[in-house]
Amino acid sequence: MSILKIIEYGNPILRKQTKEVSKVSKKIKNLVYDMLDTMYASNGVGLAAPQIGESLRIFVIDVSDPSGPVHPLVFINPKIIKKSGAINSYEGCLSFPKAYTNVRRYADVMIKALDINGKPFVKEAHNGELLARAIQHEFDHLEGKLFIDHCRNRFETNEVLKKYNLPSVDADRLIDEDELEEAIVEYEKEHPEVVEKLKKELEETEN
Ligand code: ZN
Repeated sequence: MSILKIIEYGNPILRKQTKEVSKVSKKIKNLVYDMLDTMYASNGVGLAAPQIGESLRIFVIDVSDPSGPVHPLVFINPKIIKKSGAINSYEGCLSFPKAYTNVRRYADVMIKALDINGKPFVKEAHNGELLARAIQHEFDHLEGKLFIDHCRNRFETNEVLKKYNLPSVDADRLIDEDELEEAIVEYEKEHPEVVEKLKKELEETEN
């Protein structure tokens, strides 16, 4: 097992569509183990195959408490089968060192995928919890999309990118999410406890 080099924003590989995995072979399993090693070594909560230069439909996530035992989740050939609600998500990405910004996400998702043994499973995540947001973030990587494409404020995001010497937002790639934006405002009004929880979570990450 080894730690791989993470590709940074600006590299065209991150914008490519990825290919389905035809068989969860020994080679694929080894790639997944390397991805997990790489994610843990970088203290990330998720990593997608394009970020290590493999244009394949694979991502890994671990949203467990970093001080406890690891709880890796492996998603091969994933499909998001349900999404609803809307939430603000303050996100970063291992391919964007140190750069964080506010993006639009669905609050609830249901995804199906194959695990490391090629066995199908379904996973649900709710109320804008970290897993729900991480699934959407990593799934996007497989479509050549990046979190900044969902940014709520392009100018604010560009300021952050500039600060960390990263290329600015590609205006042509911004996703039209007017309805999601409206829904976020509505959802936050209806679920103040979720907003409060996310705010606390953010303060804890910053400390
Ligand atoms: Zn990412």
